[in-house]
Amino acid sequence: MSIMVTRSSMPPIEEYIEEIRDIWQSRWLTNMGEKHQELQKALKAYMKAEYVELLVNGHMSLELTLQAMNLTGEVITTPFTFASTTHAIVRNGLTPVFCDIREEDYTMDASKIEPLITDRTSAILPVHVYGNVCAVEEIGRIAKKYGLKVIYDAAHTFGEWYKGRAVADYGDAACLSFHATKVFHTIEGGAVVYHDAELGQKLYDLKNFGIHDAEHVEAVGANAKMNEFAAAMGLCNLRHLDEEMEKRKCVVLAYREQLEGIKGIRLCTPQKDLVPNYAYFPIVVEENVFGKTRNEVFEALAEADIKARKYFYPLTNTFDCFHGKYDADATPVARHIANRVLALPLYAGLPAGDARRICSTIAVLADAS
Ligand SMILES: *Cc1c(COP(=O)(O)O)cnc(C)c1O
Repeated sequence: MSIMVTRSSMPPIEEYIEEIRDIWQSRWLTNMGEKHQELQKALKAYMKAEYVELLVNGHMSLELTLQAMNLTGEVITTPFTFASTTHAIVRNGLTPVFCDIREEDYTMDASKIEPLITDRTSAILPVHVYGNVCAVEEIGRIAKKYGLKVIYDAAHTFGEWYKGRAVADYGDAACLSFHATKVFHTIEGGAVVYHDAELGQKLYDLKNFGIHDAEHVEAVGANAKMNEFAAAMGLCNLRHLDEEMEKRKCVVLAYREQLEGIKGIRLCTPQKDLVPNYAYFPIVVEENVFGKTRNEVFEALAEADIKARKYFYPLTNTFDCFHGKYDADATPVARHIANRVLALPLYAGLPAGDARRICSTIAVLADAS
């Protein structure tokens, strides 16, 4: 039987049908209807956040947040991420400046930010990659010193708490993704957590073509509204979030137990003060020690019908679409990790037997080398 890298969680179908029944009565399918408002309120309460805006997906949350902030020039970011992060910067006409990452948790290395700041820098856009929390205090301190905005790509963090606060509550804004493959999803969806009411008004306008009111279009906006069916899915999934994370935790603990002893397979260390959501399980294959490369592990798993994912490879600063404009030599740690990382299958309810089969497929490779 083939093992997929991920599988969307579904609420009981009756629960979803019950939730969308109202939509047939109201015939209000999108444009900030009742479900939209309900989910916005529920997420705000769940995260104990000051303000939350819902959007059509995580990418538009990033793109429109950057636009709403009127940023100019350069944005310091990480190349070790999904295409969305870098694309959101470039599509706003801004220049990404790539900062290297830390060896321990693959988030932006805050000690390398200051040398990258120029008089054109307007913001920092780090990623809480795999749900690993960035050095939020240090990044906040640097941003304050230089008058920069901090926008977190918090796509992987829903359900996580750092020092008692929702991880997405840190920064001037944090953008969540509720894509079908994320720990919490609305089929497609996203949200921005922010702290400035004025920014919120701009975001609200921008997600609806920049229309401020019936006769005033104040910005060149997009269409990035979350529809009612998506919001209804979110309301259902939110009720099952704890269960979802508990099930993922079982898989993660099984992986840890079975992979921890294998030399040359590096695992992320659980972070201090973080309550995690068990979103991903990346391993780093140090071929010098392990005896096989990441690609060989990937192939061996594929032959056993196990779909792992080279997540994140390639680095965004080496994408074809950038035609060699950026240089991965400037981010050697990110390059090292991207060439060796593999995200193992992980979803709620991944059978224990499957996790064992995945681990033993890896262990056998170690023994054979
Ligand atoms: C999923 C993801 C996004 C984009 O979210 P969508 O909801 O798919 O648009 C952005 N950044 C990261 C790191 C992601 O994993």
